[in-house]
Amino acid sequence: MKNIDTFDFTDKKTLIRVDFNVPLNANFEITDPTRIDAAIPTIRKVLRGGGPVILMSHLGRPKEGPEEKFSLKHLIPYLSEQLDLDIEFADDCIGDSARNLAARLQPGEVLLLENLRFHKEETKGDEAFAEKLSKLADVYMNDAFGTAHRAHASTAIIAKFFPENKLFGYIMENEVKNIDKVLHDAHKPFTAILGGAKVSGKIEIINNLMDKVDNLIVGGGMMFTFIKAMGGKVGNSLIEDDLLDLALNTIEKAKSLGVNLYIPTDTVIADDFNNDANYMLSDVNTIPDGWMGLDIGPDSIKVFTEVIENSNTILWNGPMGVFEMDNFAEGTKAIAEAVAKATGKGAFSLIGGGDSVAAINKYKLKDKVSYVSTGGGAMLEYIEGKELPGVKAIKG
Ligand code: AMP
Repeated sequence: MKNIDTFDFTDKKTLIRVDFNVPLNANFEITDPTRIDAAIPTIRKVLRGGGPVILMSHLGRPKEGPEEKFSLKHLIPYLSEQLDLDIEFADDCIGDSARNLAARLQPGEVLLLENLRFHKEETKGDEAFAEKLSKLADVYMNDAFGTAHRAHASTAIIAKFFPENKLFGYIMENEVKNIDKVLHDAHKPFTAILGGAKVSGKIEIINNLMDKVDNLIVGGGMMFTFIKAMGGKVGNSLIEDDLLDLALNTIEKAKSLGVNLYIPTDTVIADDFNNDANYMLSDVNTIPDGWMGLDIGPDSIKVFTEVIENSNTILWNGPMGVFEMDNFAEGTKAIAEAVAKATGKGAFSLIGGGDSVAAINKYKLKDKVSYVSTGGGAMLEYIEGKELPGVKAIKG
């Protein structure tokens, strides 16, 4: 596999699939440029190496052809400022204008193509459309991990037109490297912490991790399906009744594989799903009717914290409670702090999935963990053990 650090970009037009799907306000101003910022090192690397850069991305979900609010032209001022360069813009990602602008592009110059999803062929993974895009450049680079789980024209199909000249950008490389490190090269003890709303959203992750981890900590809304399955009284807590058998199977599987499964013993319960609701501590097995568990309790925090702090590899996905509400945030905060502490002692920690990333940011611990995945759905599918089309297209 070609590597961005050793590849010779001299005079090679490089078509980079970036994820510039940033939020815009009503005046088409970028409200959160994180995704553009993340791609800058990759773009700079190619430019410094002597390759003219062509950038392609999607923005939003346009339905039928071009829509002003989804035009990538709104990104030009910010991108130009970040790269300290004028940006050329093709108002269609294929066709004469794109072809001509690409043909004239010189080393050190950047061409931004209009939103790929203005053509429905993009999400359909249309091969003829991918081929047209491929004709614009000599090299294909994918740096859009957020869409790596989609077999779209620009994220996967296009790679076949660059059998020799295809590679990852830094974002893709880092995401794949760090997730692989946890999935395939974990130093023991390896602890996975899974939380969030529902078991159904996490079951494939649990299955894939079960034969890899030493400790599996379960928190969040999903814990109550396990507790009910074991005969506990869970009141009005979030439950998936159709998954009770599956929860029991998971408990059995953990036993047979020698995995320590940690399920909370105490919980903070409330009489409404609301930060102003009455709340108190309860044993997980005796939650009164009309009350629901919205966080893990102090005994569980103590046990979980100790397990985490004695781990060498940690994967965390999903909050321990409804951390968006202050009264039910203690468990998530304590877990975030324990992960940071373990990392400080030398553990490798990977945080992934929208809400755990939000939690780590909320408690300002982003710099105290090893890696925060920005991949969202792509990251989840990767830790579910699925092969991502965008990764496979490059790795082969
Ligand atoms: P997920 O997207 O599945 O990771 O779920 C994240 C959401 O789960 C967050 O918005 C939390 O507020 C919510 N959550 C965590 N614990 C609970 C709970 N005990 N009851 C209901 N929702 C919860």
